[in-house]
Amino acid sequence: MKRIAAAALTLLLGHGSALALTIEFDYSFDTRGFFTDPVTGAAITERRAVLDLAASFYSGFADALAAIEPQAGDSWSVSFTHPSLGGPALTVVDQVIAADTVRIYVGGSASAPGVLGFANTGYNLQASGSASFVDAVLARGQENALGAGASDYATWGGMIWFNAANDWYFGASESGLGSSQSDFLSTAIHEIGHILGFGTAASWTALLDGGYFHGAASMAEYGGPVPVDRYGVHWAEGVMSLVDGRAQETLMDPSTPAGQRQLPTALDYAGFVDIGWQVSPVPEPQTYAMLLAGVALLAARHRRRAADLCGPLQTGAA
Ligand SMILES: [Zn+2]
Repeated sequence: MKRIAAAALTLLLGHGSALALTIEFDYSFDTRGFFTDPVTGAAITERRAVLDLAASFYSGFADALAAIEPQAGDSWSVSFTHPSLGGPALTVVDQVIAADTVRIYVGGSASAPGVLGFANTGYNLQASGSASFVDAVLARGQENALGAGASDYATWGGMIWFNAANDWYFGASESGLGSSQSDFLSTAIHEIGHILGFGTAASWTALLDGGYFHGAASMAEYGGPVPVDRYGVHWAEGVMSLVDGRAQETLMDPSTPAGQRQLPTALDYAGFVDIGWQVSPVPEPQTYAMLLAGVALLAARHRRRAADLCGPLQTGAA
């Protein structure tokens, strides 16, 4: 019942006004040494480079996101969990975010094993001032991105916390990934996906019914309604699709086995199409080809699985 990879991804090409999405990472709350040397303050460039590589898997995304630029009389703020769990919840005020850009505050710290990380777009988002400014903060100037009947998605950005207790593999090539290691690239792509609305957008929720996701592109890719997890924020555990024609468990199911690299499948990308992104089928040819060259066969034996906390923590309570 499954179709050829990328068949669903061409549905929304051709919108002339859309521009490529830029994801910018902010390390200013990385206070526990995950991406920043805590002694010298120097960037841990190897780790940050893999985070940038993760973002490149969304470089084929396009939309028309208004800039958030407070003028006299305008103000906005949003609160979110400290991305290093290094203190109480944070509130950022009157940040400037460029057009077609989302900002993600990142960090990490050690926590209970079995958890890879979590991400969200914060809570208590507030804006005041001109109507166009308020609309830019809440909906990035997009129509029908808010509320129960939403068909599009927009966000200012969000936060990601990574669990430093894992034995992370920070390589770009899969060849060095150990069988008991957690692949940082896989987890980073997954968590960015939640900030881009997967499982979280009003336009996602609008397409859920009875434990299945009914988006047109996803159903075309999967061959029918797609089962979701019990929180309705991922595909169901173990849902399969294709990466470049090869079978792989979906990246946006709840967990990733140790020792495995999972990349966005055709069904994962179709989910993003359904919530309002314009998705090009080839994110970034050179990087993508380099990565795919290293993708090994799926492991046949059972491995420890680790999940993220996207469901229970999605409301962002600190
Ligand atoms: Zn998740």
